[in-house]
Amino acid sequence: MLKSHDRFFAVDGKRLVLVVDDEEINREMLGFMLSENYNVLFAENGKEALEIIREHVGVLSLVLLDLMMPEMDGFAVMEVMKQDPELKKIPYIVLTSEKAAEVRSLRAGAADFITKPFDQPEVILARIQKTIELSEDNNLIQITERDNLTGLFNREYFYQYAEQLDLHHPDRTMDAVSVDINHFHLINELYGWEYGDSVLKEIGARIRQVVGKAGGVAGRMDADMFLLYFPHSDDYTQLLEDFQKGLMKDKSKARIRMRMGVYPEVDKSTKIERRFDRAKLASDNIRNSYTSFIAYYDDKLREKELLSERLINDLERAIEERQFIVFYQPKYGITGDTPRLGSAEALIRWKHPELGMISPGIFIPLFEEKGLIQKVDRYVWKEAAEQVRRWKEKYGLTVPVSVNVSRVDIYAPDFVENFLNLMQENGLDPKSYYLEITESAYTEDAAQLLDMIRALRSAGFLVEMDDFGSGYSSLNMLSTLPIDILKLDMSFIRNMRSNQEKDIRILELMIDIARYLHVPVVAEGVETEEQMNQLKKLGCDMIQGYYFSKPVPAEEFEQFIREELEHNADN
Ligand code: C2E
Ligand code: CA
Ligand code: CA
Repeated sequence: MLKSHDRFFAVDGKRLVLVVDDEEINREMLGFMLSENYNVLFAENGKEALEIIREHVGVLSLVLLDLMMPEMDGFAVMEVMKQDPELKKIPYIVLTSEKAAEVRSLRAGAADFITKPFDQPEVILARIQKTIELSEDNNLIQITERDNLTGLFNREYFYQYAEQLDLHHPDRTMDAVSVDINHFHLINELYGWEYGDSVLKEIGARIRQVVGKAGGVAGRMDADMFLLYFPHSDDYTQLLEDFQKGLMKDKSKARIRMRMGVYPEVDKSTKIERRFDRAKLASDNIRNSYTSFIAYYDDKLREKELLSERLINDLERAIEERQFIVFYQPKYGITGDTPRLGSAEALIRWKHPELGMISPGIFIPLFEEKGLIQKVDRYVWKEAAEQVRRWKEKYGLTVPVSVNVSRVDIYAPDFVENFLNLMQENGLDPKSYYLEITESAYTEDAAQLLDMIRALRSAGFLVEMDDFGSGYSSLNMLSTLPIDILKLDMSFIRNMRSNQEKDIRILELMIDIARYLHVPVVAEGVETEEQMNQLKKLGCDMIQGYYFSKPVPAEEFEQFIREELEHNADN
């Protein structure tokens, strides 16, 4: 691996300096002065200089640059060097006889200047030495541009070099490619970090080899994400196989599967990062597939991308214009003889003026990913609190409402305070406001989340674990979790349709867990009477699902409240 420091030493230990001057006498004088301590190269004009500089990137320690030259002058050379991420790290000293040019040169990025005629060799040598030293120190301090583990470029530099490649080969058709490992975190967990690192190293070495041959660049973004910028190829199957081949040497360990996303024949008018986002987008699409390992960015994905952009664009306005509508779906208690309205879940809908009704399944994950979810959620939380108040005022009955909380919401410093304010503004008891937090959140950010949940609960709110059973919470972890209600993941109820002994067993087990934790269980996604009876038999406490009602607008929901009131009056 080429460390940033290595570049500064020429083969025989002497540093390499390039002298650029159109007058032979100047080249000779400087060459004579320098030759004892340095290896010296010469150029007669700017054009020649740049060629030599490019050839010696990595080993050239300094350029002495004349300003006035035919073909290409010194200022033009400085301009080019400044634009180039590789070249801009090579320091240069300007050779000038004009006082006025000094300031301009220093502004243009010159490290120092040497005045002509060259009548003070000691001063000149001292300046040269000082400049080289400073630059080497500086380059050492700077974060290296390569990733320590794999020797590939790191994020920042990768993009720069990819752009550089375009600059040098504007006519070349290129592909943006992302490569990562399926469930890399599992490999780390199963076999340890050291093994994980060795896998990454191995992959890095392969990628370096391939990319070097093909004339591309490669970088490691984070963890197991590699990006490659390549001259276009029609088929990546072989390449992916090559990457994977050596990784299966250790038969005692699980097979390592890699995944590749390709954005072929990139549109060079799009930003470089964006091109790779497209490759990753394609790859995301096969995240859970056990059969495909290469995915291409195509028209379908382009459409999806366009829709996403549109939705992000329209978000601000949608909030202002109240295009978001909160629907409510009832949850019924089924432990008694007749089902009783227990609470409602607030579920957002987007009534888009041009696109029509948009399901949260489309925009929620998008806004979560882009860090925009908080605005939407706060809108719903506020709306829901006001609704509970309105119903309370109108019917004298408090129908508790549960709202959904996204994983990222909990990082807001005023997370708990915001809920407390809502309660105060609407004169509500926190007991009438539940927070649904999806199970996977518990496994990802356990510590932070647990703190928040404790704070919420001590403020009096009830916390419901959503989608329980879809994640990987261990029994061990569950027993210490501060939660008030468990909500079974819908897939269990869906599977029940097959009416298989095994599926019912699993449900039974889930409900047993809830009992063991002393918390009530809600089943959602209940569509048939049969499911409902089965769940009742198993000891489920509450039901939410189409069997009772779909999520409906607030006004429609009022019929359930009226029914409940009638029921109360009858008893
Ligand atoms: P979720 O929290 O698991 O919500 C349950 C989903 O199941 C809802 O879908 C609901 O309409 C649907 N559902 C209810 N009963 C049945 C049934 O009997 N059969 C079937 N097939 N489906 C049923 P929806 O409203 O499309 O919401 C999807 C997801 O979007 C929600 O899943 C939730 O994760 C998210 N979401 C909805 N509103 C919000 C919100 O305001 N904030 C956040 N962060 N997420 C929200
Ligand atoms: Ca929910
Ligand atoms: Ca759910």
